[in-house]
Amino acid sequence: MTDVFGDLVGQDEAVDTLRRAAASAAALLRAPVTAPAGGHDDLDAFAEEHDGDQGPAPVDPGAGMTHAWIFTGPPGSGRSVAARAFAAALECVHGTGCGSCPGCHTTLTGTHADVRLVVPEGLSIGVNEMRALVLRAASAPSGGRWQIVIIEDADRLTEAAGNALLKAIEEPPPRTVFLLCAPSTHPDDISVTIRSRCRVVPLRQPPPTAVAEVLVRRDGIAPDVAEWAAAAAQGHVGRARRLARDPEARQRRDAVLAVPRRLTGVGAAFDAASALIEAAEAEAAASVAEIDEAERSALQTALGAGGTGRGAAGAMRGAAGQLKDLEKRQKSRATRAQRDALDRALVDLAGFYRDALVMALRAPVAPVHTDTASLAGAGAQKWDAEGSLRRLEAVLECRAAIEANVKPRIAVEAMMLALWRG
Ligand SMILES: [Zn+2]
Repeated sequence: MTDVFGDLVGQDEAVDTLRRAAASAAALLRAPVTAPAGGHDDLDAFAEEHDGDQGPAPVDPGAGMTHAWIFTGPPGSGRSVAARAFAAALECVHGTGCGSCPGCHTTLTGTHADVRLVVPEGLSIGVNEMRALVLRAASAPSGGRWQIVIIEDADRLTEAAGNALLKAIEEPPPRTVFLLCAPSTHPDDISVTIRSRCRVVPLRQPPPTAVAEVLVRRDGIAPDVAEWAAAAAQGHVGRARRLARDPEARQRRDAVLAVPRRLTGVGAAFDAASALIEAAEAEAAASVAEIDEAERSALQTALGAGGTGRGAAGAMRGAAGQLKDLEKRQKSRATRAQRDALDRALVDLAGFYRDALVMALRAPVAPVHTDTASLAGAGAQKWDAEGSLRRLEAVLECRAAIEANVKPRIAVEAMMLALWRG
């Protein structure tokens, strides 16, 4: 089966909900009562022609289409994959996401004229971006189906941007659909008022077996590598794929998992903190360098026409402003990339201490990191369950502190000292 929902790993319940909603949406497009006001368009004509016969398949009342959705779930569970698949199902010219028609195909490749994807590059999505988006989303869909706005990381909306979005969701244009992605529906992630206007599709952390299966089937990765990567990535599909394919990602993970061994004193703890921070910075710099350069040269080309005639001085001032804006955006994106890289490292480290805890408790649960299981076992003996738990908590506290805007270096140093002291 290769329809648009094929890449959603281990999410049967959510897929079922989305399929029914897509079918209901397709029926809505055919139903005269919900056609946009303004009358006798081709949709009405179609319905009248078919008056009297059975008509389209009856709409399941419990599966109703709605114009605002929130996809929630832990990182890597496939929030944006789900949103894109649902968008494709809505734009599918055959009705519910066949995966091969132009509607499905252009939506999945990001070129559909009526589907806009917002991916925040910095730490937040600003109000100007949101206003422009809401305005465009209010226009009639050019393909005759739905105008769709997908907002990845909707938890990074600024308050003003959230308000602009809320207005659009409160009085939605008839054919506009908003698909939001966020870690949870906690008020820290999504405002209560936006939440109350959306249908929530919860995604769960997919089990390692389901992740391994998709790595083998879709990416052609060897089963033993896929199994190891799926476990090590703790249910994060994209991370599992990277670990299976990218030797540098594996090296970085090895370096992180070497931390517990290296903590032999205060000096070593500070060294380990520096190493972790610098590794995250290097990884982030590598990940944004290419796109930064591409953007800069594109902007310079756009401005580069130059000129010395009248107006050139004003143009230069404008150019300086645009360059400054670009630099600001890039800086914000780099900060985000650093935090993401550091967070991945902390999740790996938490997995190690979690393994130690599980072993100290002799719980019948598979380890996250099979390749450091013996090291975690040694830790379990030395620290016992309590000591393992304290260390796990130190890592989780560090993540929480960084999320709450504590300076990463300070949070990581505190964590390393706690891990060393135990
Ligand atoms: Zn299709």
